[in-house]
Amino acid sequence: MSKFNLRNRLFFSHILVIIFGLGTFVAIVKYSSPRFFVLRLEQLERRGFLTVRSARTYLINGFQSALDSGTFWSCAVGITAAGGLSYWFAQRITKPLNIMQQITQKFASGNLKERMPASDIPELNELAMSFNRMANSLENVEQRRRELMSDLTHELRSPLTVMRGYLEELADNAIAPSPELYLRLVRETKRLERLTNDLQELSKAEAGYLPIHLQSVNLHPLLTSLVERFDDQLMEESPRLKLEYAAELPAVHADVDRIEQVLVNLIGNALHYTEQGYIIIKGWRDRERVWVAVEDTGVGIADRDLPFVFERFWRADRSRSRYSGGTGIGLAITRRLVELQNGKIEVESELGKGSIFRFYLPIS
Ligand code: ADP
Repeated sequence: MSKFNLRNRLFFSHILVIIFGLGTFVAIVKYSSPRFFVLRLEQLERRGFLTVRSARTYLINGFQSALDSGTFWSCAVGITAAGGLSYWFAQRITKPLNIMQQITQKFASGNLKERMPASDIPELNELAMSFNRMANSLENVEQRRRELMSDLTHELRSPLTVMRGYLEELADNAIAPSPELYLRLVRETKRLERLTNDLQELSKAEAGYLPIHLQSVNLHPLLTSLVERFDDQLMEESPRLKLEYAAELPAVHADVDRIEQVLVNLIGNALHYTEQGYIIIKGWRDRERVWVAVEDTGVGIADRDLPFVFERFWRADRSRSRYSGGTGIGLAITRRLVELQNGKIEVESELGKGSIFRFYLPIS
């Protein structure tokens, strides 16, 4: 800890005040009292006292009054000097505290841009820096909350507008009811339903409320059954699904339901965005981690878009994805789920060639 921390400062300032007070006292007593006494002696000589005995009372009085004047002046100067010094020290410590209090008040009343200035007292500086870190994170949360609200409004508005339009036209007899029309309405309602489900899942995952039961999980049987499940739904012209995951790879420390959710999202996306070619699920070991990758030969993602794919509501081509029913929440949930299991997910992709989504989990 620095030599000038708050404890040392307070300690030395008190010592300094004591030394100053005592110093002035001693200096004044030493300097002035003999002078007062000499004055008395001179008066004594002028009055012509001859014997010490006759001068006794006068001398004692003289001594007393010299002491009184010395004490008076040293008290007056000492108290003023020591008081001034203490006031100055106290001021130096309370001034930054007052500023901090004002800033916290402004922050609490909603001015999230307020930050603490640096202080030359290490403890206060540390406090100011902690406050600033907290302020940054609160400001971020607030920013994300605003973004979420505006994205959400946007997402909800489009299916609602479509539905209202059709329903109004139906009510006005402007269009004839038909099975196709009702199917469109059902599709929009489903979209709203999916959006609310995804949102609930996302909010739970982001707030850390999703129950995660970490245990030793062997991924091979899980992947095999998942690939079989997806394979059953594939059409003749769909891309092929392959599994390249060695059965001997070690088990991971994870939640089996959550990994399944992650894999269903990634494989689902790969199938969604791949017209032809193949989708390979690979696995390998890297030190104390097991990596799983879902590789596809689909549309790919542009370089400039790659940093955003895991952001909620992000979609490469908004109109196309909306038509195909995407909400842009899937990968945000996927990333959160992987992180909750102490792993990390990353993406590599080339437009028109395909994408690789890979994540690792710790070995159990
Ligand atoms: P969505 O429900 O829209 O698929 P996601 O969060 O799962 O939401 O994906 C976000 C966006 O990332 C998608 O809209 C798409 O543009 C892009 N994307 C995700 N996976 C792939 C993939 N395998 N190939 C190409 N683009 C992808």
